[in-house]
Amino acid sequence: MDISVSEAARKLGVSASTLRYYESAGLVPAIERRGGRRVYRPSDLAALRLVILARKTGMGIAQIRKLRGLLFADRARADQKLSEQISVIDATMDALATQRALLSRLAACGCADPVVCEVVG
Ligand SMILES: [Zn+2]
Repeated sequence: MDISVSEAARKLGVSASTLRYYESAGLVPAIERRGGRRVYRPSDLAALRLVILARKTGMGIAQIRKLRGLLFADRARADQKLSEQISVIDATMDALATQRALLSRLAACGCADPVVCEVVG
């Protein structure tokens, strides 16, 4: 069923201006106009859901544009790119866990003098 921009925005949980922005940024195919108003088809909503999902993963506009092109043209290459992004996230999580552990040890040791602190070493 075809719906208006405000209905599409409500269904997708984003603002109408966000939907227009994603279109103008080339993240989804041009939305058909009838009588000057955008008409969203189910395939448009699916394309927008992909953009919204990608935004939730922290991807920028340029990355999403590339991903979208790859997903439909070269799925294997897209999967490789996604795996690389997962590796970046894993490395960031490891680094954060190390930082957290260091801070926890420092917060718990109770020393008033770094000379005697085993955490400082
Ligand atoms: Zn200490």
